[in-house]
Amino acid sequence: MEAPKHFDKCDLCKRSYQQKPHVYEVSRLSHYDMNICNNCRKANWDGIGPMLENNFIEHLQLKNIPPPTRNAKGWYPLEPK
Ligand SMILES: [Zn+2]
Repeated sequence: MEAPKHFDKCDLCKRSYQQKPHVYEVSRLSHYDMNICNNCRKANWDGIGPMLENNFIEHLQLKNIPPPTRNAKGWYPLEPK
């Protein structure tokens, strides 16, 4: 039987995680119903940049989650206030 794979892909950059949890740690953003890799978390700590904004919006639309308020930089925050 195959083990369930809940965290096999980053919802933001869409990269697959390798089978090395210590290399690719996953962060759960429950308010967006989203799992993101540590890379994304580090790179977007001050907001989701224009490169990934489309992926982010697509994900929200899929989940029927309204987009958060943009931060001072005009980016969507990882942790909405
Ligand atoms: Zn990622």
